Amino acid sequence: MLTEPRKVLELHQVVKHYPGTPPVRALDGVDLVIRAGELVAVVGPSGSGKSTMLNIMGALDRPSSGDVIVDGQALSRMRDREVAAVRGRRIGFVFQQFHLLEGLSALDNVSTGNLYQGVSLRWRRQMAREVLERVGLGHRMGQRPGKLSGGERQRVAIARALLGDPAIVLADEPTGNLDSQTTEEIVELFLELNRAGSTIVIITHDRDLAARMPRSVSILDGRISHDSAEV
Ligand code: ADP
Ligand code: MG
Repeated sequence: MLTEPRKVLELHQVVKHYPGTPPVRALDGVDLVIRAGELVAVVGPSGSGKSTMLNIMGALDRPSSGDVIVDGQALSRMRDREVAAVRGRRIGFVFQQFHLLEGLSALDNVSTGNLYQGVSLRWRRQMAREVLERVGLGHRMGQRPGKLSGGERQRVAIARALLGDPAIVLADEPTGNLDSQTTEEIVELFLELNRAGSTIVIITHDRDLAARMPRSVSILDGRISHDSAEV
């Protein structure tokens, strides 16, 4: 019998409102299941709730109601410290602005990332070298971000997200600061990493980019309006 790959991330009736006058209902009852080995685009216009959704999927923020389950563990039942541990061990992040430390080499940006704090620096450096090779930056590991192109900086950030083999990588507009040629290279890299087994969610406002992903989920006004996986 065929069994489906395990669920790595589940949102159940997730609602998020931000206080204010009037309050904003940024997510309005989102249900989503992501399974191991998927590459999913979440696509929608500016203000539709994409970043809010990423922050909640990545345990950076808590929903107003509803459940978030990462690798089978319900975050709502956990204290903040436990949630932070799940985030640090099981989730990798990539952002539009790269968020690299300027004073550190590419290698140190990756090896001193938040993950795997319990592991020796020597071992983390070794793992960092391996992930930098995987993203095609083996020859530039000693450079600081200021000496790297935008595409290379994003590769460093992707390597950092992959360190420690997280259950899922969440990328918020990862090509938002890149020209079209570099965007193409980074899209190819995500497709390649996914073919090698990584589970990835890419948030984007770019419908063409989303259409090239194996699965694409549209979001509008805080609700899922279409999911290519649902027939
Ligand atoms: P997207 O990433 O799709 O552009 P966001 O998730 O950033 O959308 O925002 C969704 C809605 O929530 C928008 O109306 C936005 O103005 C509002 N919003 C986002 N973050 C906050 C916040 N911290 N406080 C108040 N409103 C917010
Ligand atoms: Mg956003």
